[in-house]
Order: sequence, then structure tokens, then C-alpha cells
Amino acid sequence: MNRKKIVAGNWKMNMTLDQTKDLISQLKLVSSNEVEIKIAPSFTNLHYAVSLLDSSKIEVVAQNIHFENSGAYTGEISAEMLNSIGVKSVIIGHSERRKYFNETDHILSKKVIAAISNSINVIFCVGEELFERENNEHFDVIKNQLSIGLFELDNDQLKKIVIAYEPVWAIGTGKTANSPQIQEMHHYIRNLIKSNFNDDISNEIRILYGGSVKANNASEIFSLPDVDGGLIGGASLNFSDFNAIVHAANG
Ligand code: PEP
Repeated sequence: MNRKKIVAGNWKMNMTLDQTKDLISQLKLVSSNEVEIKIAPSFTNLHYAVSLLDSSKIEVVAQNIHFENSGAYTGEISAEMLNSIGVKSVIIGHSERRKYFNETDHILSKKVIAAISNSINVIFCVGEELFERENNEHFDVIKNQLSIGLFELDNDQLKKIVIAYEPVWAIGTGKTANSPQIQEMHHYIRNLIKSNFNDDISNEIRILYGGSVKANNASEIFSLPDVDGGLIGGASLNFSDFNAIVHAANG
């Protein structure tokens, strides 16, 4: 199965408007037919990023949505709003949203439905904490997050999803999971998709790795058979690092 790799940069709460403009002007020079490149700027810069990348293959992704389309939810942004400015995808379930904003699996499943109902594709993040891995609970944690978040979807809905496996202990810590740990979990996730959906979907779904992917480890990680690219935090804020990671995905 030849799955096209994805390299997605999660800019988190970084980058002013001017910084966004500068980085995008550099990124526009990176073109790849082999890799889908995505960036997730903050809400204030989304519309601008969409217009700057209008004629580019680089896709603009949001970092969050509310699960309602509209209403009395001060400070929130809906999938319908994202759709109206040309955003095609959203990250849902990032561990920072789970941890700092108390987003439960049930809230996340509502967000997934809201996104898909508004024609917004989803990068759905799952990952275990360090103590869960140390207690050998990591497979159960991932299974539970996926079951509640995704396994009520039908086959067509699941095709709108990319999964990102991001062990929480590897995010922003400089500590990556090692290759056997990554491949083992990605393979486990693909098998779960197979048993809950079907062979074709499990072969087609892209599963990204996230957690301190850098220019110097990306090639090894991307060469693993069940890894279809990466969700990149820190290293996506610097052009030369992100560019090197895209090149690593090119193979
Ligand atoms: C992330 O935020 O999704 C991430 C993987 O961050 P970092 O690459 O900085 O670990």
C-alpha cells in the first residue's frame, strides 16, 4: 500500500502575523509531489495563511474547534466558521487540549462529528502519559481514546481522519519514542482499525508520529512501515528544520 506521507506543522500559540507571513513565504518554496505539507497556525492567522497559500499545495489546518456550529460560547470557534474561510482540516485531541483544557474523550468525539459534518478533515491525536507506559497500560489507553473518539464513525467518515500517535512524554521534551516502540504502536493502531472497520480502510488510513521529531531523527522514524509522516511541533517553527523534515519524508 502506497500511502502518501504527511508532514504537518503544529505552530501552537506561536507566531505573530508578521512572523506568519515570513515563514509562509519561505515555505512556499518547498514544493513536493511526494509529501502532503500542512501547517496549523493560530486562529488569528488562519484566514491570512489561507489567502497566502491560495495557489500553493500547502494546506492550512486549525488547531481546535468547538463542537457546536454557533451559539453562546464566548471565545470559541466553530467548524462552520473554519469552513467559511477555506480551512480544510483541524487537529482534534492534542494532548495539550486534553491536559490544559480538560477535553475529554467524549468532548473530542463530538468535535470529530462537528468537523466532519462541516466537511473539515481531522488529524486526531492520541497518546499515553509516561506513567501509563511504565504501567504497561499504553495499548489500553490508545484503544480507549480511539474507541470513544473514532469507532462510532462509519467507513466514509473514517476516511476523513488522519491519526497522530503522540506519546505525551515525547512532546516538546526532546525525547522521542524509539523506533520499535513507534512501529509497535502504529501497527497496533492499524490492526484496531482493521478489526473495527475493514482491511482496505486500515491499509489506507494515514498514521502520523508526533513527539520531538527533528531534522536528525525524521528519516529513521518515517522509514518505519506503519508511519505515514509526522505531526511536528517545535521544529515546524523554523524553516530549515521543517524543510529538512519534509525532505526526510520524501525518502
Ligand atoms: C506536537 O505538539 O504535536 C508535537 C509533536 O510537538 P514537538 O514536536 O515539539 O514535540
